[in-house]
Amino acid sequence: MTRARSVAIAGAGVAGLASAILLSRAGWRVTVFERFERARPVGSGLILQPPGMAVLDALGLGDRVREKGAPIRRLFGKSAGSDRVVLDVRYSALGGEGAHGVGLHRASLFDVLHGAALEEQVVIETGKAVLACPPLSGGRRELHFADGASAGPFDLVIDALGSRSALLSSPGRLLDYGALWGTVLLPDRADFQQAALEQRYLGARRMVGVLPIGDAPDAARGRHAAFFWSLRHDRYDAWLQDGLDAWKAEVQALWPLARHLASQFADPAALTFARYAHRTIANPAEAGLIHIGDAWRATSPQLGQGANMALLDAYALAGALRDRADLGEALAAFVRRRRRHVLLYQAMSWLFTPFYQSDNRVLPLLRDRIAGPLARLPPAQRFLAVLVSGQLRGPLRGLE
Ligand SMILES: Cc1cc2nc3c(=O)[nH]c(=O)nc-3n(C[C@H](O)[C@H](O)[C@H](O)COP(=O)(O)OP(=O)(O)OC[C@H]3O[C@@H](n4cnc5c(N)ncnc54)[C@H](O)[C@@H]3O)c2cc1C
Repeated sequence: MTRARSVAIAGAGVAGLASAILLSRAGWRVTVFERFERARPVGSGLILQPPGMAVLDALGLGDRVREKGAPIRRLFGKSAGSDRVVLDVRYSALGGEGAHGVGLHRASLFDVLHGAALEEQVVIETGKAVLACPPLSGGRRELHFADGASAGPFDLVIDALGSRSALLSSPGRLLDYGALWGTVLLPDRADFQQAALEQRYLGARRMVGVLPIGDAPDAARGRHAAFFWSLRHDRYDAWLQDGLDAWKAEVQALWPLARHLASQFADPAALTFARYAHRTIANPAEAGLIHIGDAWRATSPQLGQGANMALLDAYALAGALRDRADLGEALAAFVRRRRRHVLLYQAMSWLFTPFYQSDNRVLPLLRDRIAGPLARLPPAQRFLAVLVSGQLRGPLRGLE
C-alpha cells in the first residue's frame, strides 16, 4: 500500500482552506497552520466573481456562500465634484441576465470554508505563527514556528500566508493608499441601488464606497454592507485625532446619502485600516514549496479579484497534483495554468489603481472626462464586464 502524501498548508485564509478541502478529498494528509485562533476581519467585504463562484460550486459550497452573501449586478461610481458617471459596469453585458458577483463579508467566506475543512477532518492547528520552512534531504520540508516548535517533514508545503507571507524574502511595494473598512446595516429605504457596488470619488484622493454583503459576521442576518473610505496610510493617525464627527462631515460633503451609513459608526475601532501592497513573484514554485493566493501576488483590491484568484489557485494546484505523480512537474504545470491570468490581472490592477487611489491630479481628470464616457459605449461595456468579472483569458479553461 502506498503512503498518503503529506502537505502542510501555512495560513487558514481563502487559498489555504480551499486547498485543504481539495487535497484532503484527493487523499493527502493535510495539516493547516494558522497564527490566529480565528480569521481576522481585515477588509470587511469582498466580491466573489463568477470564476470564484464556479470553484466554490465545484467544492459544493456555492449555495452556502450565496445564502450568506448578496448578489452584485452592477458597479457604479460618480465623481463627486462634477457629478459625472465614471464607472458603470453591468454584469448583464456578459450576455445573460443571471450573471452576477456575490458580495459577502470576509468572515462569511471563512466560516463556509472552515466548516467544510472540518467536515473533511482536516487538522487545523491554530496559534502557530510560521517563520520558515527549510528544505530537508529528499526534497521534503519542515515548518518552523515563532514559539520555537517545528513540524514535519512534509512532502509539500503550501505557502498561503497572504500578502505579507513570512516565507517570502520581499514584501513587495507597499502602496501609499489603503482604506478604512467597516460593516453597516443598509436602510430599507431605496436610497442605495439594489445589488450594486456604489462609489463616489473626489479626484483620486478620496473614495467612499458601499458594497452589499448580506449577513454580518456576528450571525446577524440581512441587509448589511461593507462601507469603505480610502485613506493615505500616513494620514491614519490624523484621522484618529480629528475624530469621527469631522470624518462624518467629510463623508457628507462627498456623498450626502452615505452620511446615514457613516453615522452608524460610534467608535473608530469599528473601522479597520487595510494598507495594500503590489508584488508578483516571477516563479512561485520551489522544491517542495509553492506560494499561492496573495503570497504569490498581491495588489490593491481595485479590481476586486484577490479572493477569486486565491480560489482559482487552489483549484488549479489540486488539479495539477492530481494529474501528475511527480511533484516538481505538478508544481510547474500549476504555474503554467495560472501564470497568464495572474500576470494580466496584476498588470490591470497596477494600471487602474492610480486612477482611483493616488495623489495624481491628471489621471482622475482623464478618468472623468475621457475614460468614463468611453467606458459607457457598448464594446467597452462588454470588455469591462468581462474584466471585472475576472473572466479575461478564461481562467477556468483547462482546470476542470
Ligand atoms: C480591504 C480589502 C478588500 C478586498 N476586496 C476584495 C474583493 O472585493 N474581491 C476579492 O476577490 N478580493 C478582495 N480582497 C483581497 C482578498 O481578501 C485576498 O486577495 C484574499 O483574501 C487572499 O487570500 P489568501 O488566502 O491568499 O490570503 P489571506 O486570506 O490573507 O489568508 C492568509 C492567512 O494566513 C495567516 N497568516 C499570515 N501570516 C501568518 C504566519 N506567519 N503564520 C501563520 N499564519 C499566518 C493569516 O492570519 C490568514 O488567515 C480584498 C482585500 C482587502 C485587504
